[in-house]
Amino acid sequence: MTDVAHLENVTFSYGEQPAVTDVTLSIGAGEFLGLIGPNGSGKTTLLHLLLGLLEPDSGRIELFGQPVSSFDQGERIGYVSQGATDRAETMPVTVREVVRMGRFAHAGHSRLSEEDRTAVDAALATVDIVNLAERRIGSLSGGQRQRAYIARALASEADLLALDEPTVGVDAESRDAFYKLLASLNERGITIVLIEHDIGVVTDRADHIACLNTHLYHHGDTESFVESDALADAYGASGRIVQHHH
Ligand code: ADP
Repeated sequence: MTDVAHLENVTFSYGEQPAVTDVTLSIGAGEFLGLIGPNGSGKTTLLHLLLGLLEPDSGRIELFGQPVSSFDQGERIGYVSQGATDRAETMPVTVREVVRMGRFAHAGHSRLSEEDRTAVDAALATVDIVNLAERRIGSLSGGQRQRAYIARALASEADLLALDEPTVGVDAESRDAFYKLLASLNERGITIVLIEHDIGVVTDRADHIACLNTHLYHHGDTESFVESDALADAYGASGRIVQHHH
């Protein structure tokens, strides 16, 4: 089967500052990949490269088997950027309108069909924000907004969800519910790439882990990561491991 994403020898610098060095990584369909590493280790940059938001200095990137530079199936990708900020928040739009934007990839800016409306309703229900549909997006809490952006991706029938520290500023209870939601979407076959600083969340939820330190320093299934020295190497000395209790 075609990988959802494939990066080969990808390198990127901001001027003189190397951010991603020689990363080779494949993400298979249906995978839940946790992308971890210390601050400044290139996680966000790697995600931006993967989504075609940045162009690599060298190397090759494919999305769904297509070079990312000519990728034209944007509706297949849902991206939730860091800290729950989104351009929609500066606009006087409702949650339903934000989620409807997910359908424009299919419908263009013409009137939405009955099918589009059904997809919007279903997406709102899946992330459990039907009751917030007519609220202004800017008035929602961080966790609620993240759900709205996921609903937008679901409405567009995205099969890859990329999330960059989506629960920063979200309280512990909502956070747990949010990661349960992600797990259930993954069970439905949606591929997930998640940047998350809480290693406990990642080892609980992800089936694969990529550990960055500009270079890709460990990549494999979660079990082998937990059993390997990579965990202690990456987090032990700095005491950054956060235990996650059920
Ligand atoms: P992470 O997501 O792991 O915290 P980033 O990808 O944000 O890491 O950053 C990787 C490196 O690139 C860091 O050294 C950071 O300071 C630098 N960097 C990130 N964004 C920019 C930018 N827009 N301009 C210059 N340097 C940047």
